[in-house]
Amino acid sequence: MGFSIMLGDITQVKADAIVNAANESLLGGGGVDGAIHRAAGPGLLAECKQLGGCKTGEAKITKAYRLPAKYVIHTPGPVWRGGIRGEAALLASCYHNSLLLARDHNCETVAFPSISTGVYNYPLDQAAEIAVREIRRFLKENLVPRDIIMVCFDRVTQAAYEHAAEKL
Ligand code: ADP
Repeated sequence: MGFSIMLGDITQVKADAIVNAANESLLGGGGVDGAIHRAAGPGLLAECKQLGGCKTGEAKITKAYRLPAKYVIHTPGPVWRGGIRGEAALLASCYHNSLLLARDHNCETVAFPSISTGVYNYPLDQAAEIAVREIRRFLKENLVPRDIIMVCFDRVTQAAYEHAAEKL
């Protein structure tokens, strides 16, 4: 399978790890972060409170509680500030550091949401290219994870990732 793109709700995906587009507090928020915390139940927030936050571009791992996944990998994406504040490198780091954690925890399958393209306003086409490039590079250089899925919540997002995957 390798890299694939699907339309759906990441809280329902039975991957070894799902990635959360978190914020630096790791204490929950809106969008996919809120959906993951609601579906996982209060145990997730309790574990996140012990972590002391996470810097943009870095990643931390927790258990997944009531979710069908085994782990949640939390990574705060960059807020788009016009592209001159290192956003591209930070977004690439989100994907890379999440995949390093997944590999260290022996996760064969990992599901990502479209990091930073919601409230954080990252231009969708650019974000999709960064995600596809980082994921493909990681798959080429590592045996684990084996399957990486982009879980797109709407058709516009799905089309952008499919376009990036064809183009690159
Ligand atoms: P960010 O703050 O990183 O921009 P958001 O949660 O606002 O994060 O948005 C990131 C992406 O996640 C958006 O494309 C949004 O539509 C999508 N999203 C929201 N809920 C879910 C969900 N349950 N599963 C997958 N993707 C989701």
